[in-house]
Amino acid sequence: MPVKFKLTVEKARERVAKFCQKIADSNLNLSTWGNISCYLPDEEQVVITPSGMSYKELRPNMQVVVDMKGEVLEGELKPSSELKVHLAIYTHRSDVRAVVHTHSAYASALAVSGIPIPPILEDMAALIGGEVSVAEYAMAGSEQLAENTIKALGDKNAVLLANHGVVGVGRNLEEAFDVCMMVERCAQIYILARLAGDPKILCPEDVSALREFYLYKYGQR
Ligand SMILES: [Zn+2]
Repeated sequence: MPVKFKLTVEKARERVAKFCQKIADSNLNLSTWGNISCYLPDEEQVVITPSGMSYKELRPNMQVVVDMKGEVLEGELKPSSELKVHLAIYTHRSDVRAVVHTHSAYASALAVSGIPIPPILEDMAALIGGEVSVAEYAMAGSEQLAENTIKALGDKNAVLLANHGVVGVGRNLEEAFDVCMMVERCAQIYILARLAGDPKILCPEDVSALREFYLYKYGQR
């Protein structure tokens, strides 16, 4: 019998710190923008990056532990200013264990134009589960932005925030990070495809089948 891996607060802080380094090495964010969190279901706590700190400098003990009301339980630093968005997602989506928020360029170009990314590629359909919709604009850090985000996210794994950026979610940090990379890649391809001609969109039946396969049959089991 495989031993079930238990994510402790200490491990979660290490993992969030590891993904801070991955974000720093990616082209997804400029400077200190964006944020990362993961959820501990047994403790009903969230480990989130602190506000306005360079990703390269973020160590495990600098990650902030909060409860579901956003009260700081552990950590010296102020949590990310987008904490409300993260908490709203964990409250509304019991399948989500990690959230990554980025300001990547091509996805932001579509977010600025209010253009959703339709399901144009098989890997996108599998990982994200369909269209990446655009959440209506609200000021960063506001309760309204959290509401608009969960409304536009629905049961998908990614959403664009109007005039702002991207939120990717997943069953773990690897998946949420991959979702943000995928959104950026699909945004780039979609913009090019629109310039080249008339992009063809995958039909809902194929999107569902690709998603089901990814969730229940893909990879080594
Ligand atoms: Zn942001």
